[in-house]
Amino acid sequence: MNVLSAANSGSSQMMTITVQDFSGSPFPAAVTRRFVVPFEQLQSTYGRLMRSGAKILEVSNGSASGPTPAGSSTGGSAPTQVQPTTTVKTPRKKAAHADVPVNTYKPKNPFTGKVISNESLLKEGAIGRVNHITMDLSGGDLRYVEGQSIGIIPDGLADNGKPHKIRLYSIASTRHGDNLVGNTVSLCVRQLQYEKDGELINGVCSTYLCDIEPGAPVKITGPVGKEMLLPEDEEANVIMLATGTGIAPMRAYLRRMFDPGERTKNQGYGFRGKAWLFMGVPTTPNLLYEEEFQSYLSAYPEHFRYTKAISREQKNKEGGRMYIQHRVAECADEIFELISMESTHLYMCGLRGMEPGIDEAMTAAAADRGLDWKTLRPQLKKAGRWHVETY
Ligand SMILES: Cc1cc2nc3c(=O)[nH]c(=O)nc-3n(C[C@H](O)[C@H](O)[C@H](O)COP(=O)(O)OP(=O)(O)OC[C@H]3O[C@@H](n4cnc5c(N)ncnc54)[C@H](O)[C@@H]3O)c2cc1C
Repeated sequence: MNVLSAANSGSSQMMTITVQDFSGSPFPAAVTRRFVVPFEQLQSTYGRLMRSGAKILEVSNGSASGPTPAGSSTGGSAPTQVQPTTTVKTPRKKAAHADVPVNTYKPKNPFTGKVISNESLLKEGAIGRVNHITMDLSGGDLRYVEGQSIGIIPDGLADNGKPHKIRLYSIASTRHGDNLVGNTVSLCVRQLQYEKDGELINGVCSTYLCDIEPGAPVKITGPVGKEMLLPEDEEANVIMLATGTGIAPMRAYLRRMFDPGERTKNQGYGFRGKAWLFMGVPTTPNLLYEEEFQSYLSAYPEHFRYTKAISREQKNKEGGRMYIQHRVAECADEIFELISMESTHLYMCGLRGMEPGIDEAMTAAAADRGLDWKTLRPQLKKAGRWHVETY
């Protein structure tokens, strides 16, 4: 762009300077501001904007090249700043994922796998019961990719005398399985327990799975789900927000990205982006897959970041319990900087109760930056970059 050519017009008409945002906005590439000034002030305003660090995109004749908000003046001596346009940069076409298998086995015709192992994921002193269960899929056609779920039909009959209905579980292994042979699937299951009328109730399927012995047959359906699939882009940034067993799909993503065996096995996928895991648990012994994540941190410090919220041990800045949304709020600058990049995807998984807290944190962080999370979130969703699976 050339200011002099604009100045040469020599009249006192209104001029518009369009700049890329310079105010520390988290969307530097996406936010533009327009300043409408009388021709006489063009040079001084231009100089002021340059000194402030703005990138001048265009100087044009007239009051604006886009809509001017109601009430804004184009006259007078002060430059008029036209409302910034805050949009997520050109939405990406949602990847088709057409080749991802779904519903290979339906509830009426489940596949019968066999339990290989069932081990606690918790350390001494943890609250509750969370197990890693691996099943053999040999002899069937059940193929899946990271981010999908499978259905489990527990043994026995429901109170109505009919077979139990299926329960869905996020797959915690990669497509190659934990043994890298491609004939297993693993789950991360928390036993549901609650009190009703003074009686302890055990969840039907989660208890069935946490108690299941190696060698036992297990009825499996699916795979299902395309909401939580990883982008194929090896340079994508992946922000993961997990609470409790919501870690299951993230564990699969991180293995795909960083596990040495996986990296050898993966054809055409060598992750080079940034992966950032936010993990929420009540106590340190409740951290899941901690050793794996620590090994990725050692091997790939430039590509993996791991932020924990341990609610009963850490305090937030108000002195209350540290939940995942407090960590999100603390890291809002960096999160928003990453979101401004088209290649960044966000994944949220865990109990449904985590959603309002995350929304609240994102709303406040967005507002601090002059953005509206209510507008931004659907844009990210439409662009296929905001992935949520809560239950
Ligand atoms: C897409 C998806 C992925 C999932 N992934 C996982 C996963 O990776 N790991 C995992 O552990 N779970 C996961 N789940 C949850 C899982 O499907 C089951 O819902 C969970 O294991 C409980 O099933 P259950 O048979 O043990 O409980 P059920 O016997 O079915 O009992 C559940 C019912 O108990 C009642 N109930 C529950 N809590 C209380 C309470 N506090 N007070 C009173 N009543 C209550 C409610 O009516 C509830 O519907 C996922 C769910 C979905 C939809």
